[in-house]
Amino acid sequence: SYKRFSEQAIARDFPTLKARLFANENPFGPSEKAKKAIVDAMANSYQYPFLLIEELTAKITTAEGVAKEQFMIGAGSTPLLQAAAMIFAKNGGGSIVAADPSYDYLPEEASKFFNAKWVKVPLTPDYKHDLDAMEKAIDANTSLVYICNPNNPTGTVVDTAKLKAFCERVSKRVPVFVDEAYIDYLPDPKGTTLIDCVKKGHNVIVARTFSKLHGFAGLRVGYIVAQPDMIKSFEPYSSSWGAIAATSANAALASYGDTDFLKEALKKTNESKEYLYAVLKKEGYTYIPSSTNFVMFPLNMDSERFVEEMMKRGVGVRSWKFNSKEWCRVSIGRMDEMKAFEEAFKQLS
Ligand code: PLP
Repeated sequence: SYKRFSEQAIARDFPTLKARLFANENPFGPSEKAKKAIVDAMANSYQYPFLLIEELTAKITTAEGVAKEQFMIGAGSTPLLQAAAMIFAKNGGGSIVAADPSYDYLPEEASKFFNAKWVKVPLTPDYKHDLDAMEKAIDANTSLVYICNPNNPTGTVVDTAKLKAFCERVSKRVPVFVDEAYIDYLPDPKGTTLIDCVKKGHNVIVARTFSKLHGFAGLRVGYIVAQPDMIKSFEPYSSSWGAIAATSANAALASYGDTDFLKEALKKTNESKEYLYAVLKKEGYTYIPSSTNFVMFPLNMDSERFVEEMMKRGVGVRSWKFNSKEWCRVSIGRMDEMKAFEEAFKQLS
């Protein structure tokens, strides 16, 4: 909705924006190989991209060790989150357990447009998912548990063994949707992903996106991995073959498994993040240590006013209110963007 993206919309129209730090994008991408792949795909883009999508599906499913029947591609992960919202709202009879604050797209869509109940479970004092409280919040009406790991907007990760045990136990009662949009920023994505639980036959849905570390937010490529029956239940809402453009599919083929590019993007992200940490410390602020490409820190002024004032200075960031505090979330950008943040922030702190 416009309201959801109003800050972004303002920023897009803002003529002197120096730093775009409001949407957790990766300004170090897409890779040169991905850009070349887009150009290469142009000549044949009068054709439907059946073969490219088949090739991309084969590449990802082979690397993840899952069957094609356990996989569905989307134009980013958003359409798949939206499909899940429709499915698990169950015509108003569903109830979705999700952390608060967390990425709210799925539970908000489900509750706002499809009349589901949204059960919000506060985070632990160290801003992680409170898995015990989430388990207790499940009742006979619960149709889905949504977990964003790493969590947006706090940048925190839950203990992998604990999350796997939670998913294995809970998914016997109700499906668990694990949104892994930021997993590529972790030191060991393969060891952290819940795709293992899907492979073991549990009723877990894992969502991934190329929008973050691959730098594909504008190219729109994402996917889910789940049990074949679950994938079938998504089919009325989305169709893999028609989901993405030939250019994006070819770019994803070039970017997937490009470890050199991903390592370099991660290195630059971490350098900018360390710079931001130092700025915050120097100005006397604390922050939530982040495992992602964004950092959340408490403000000592009204957060909406802070965002407006930063925007006037050409720096787009986002605001939150929770735990009776005002918060700012800064996405990690290029070093020049972090310096623009610093300059504007010093005037307000
Ligand atoms: N999931 C999470 C946790 C996100 O933060 C975002 C975007 O910021 C998305 C999903 C949607 O991303 P996309 O539709 O670009 O894959």
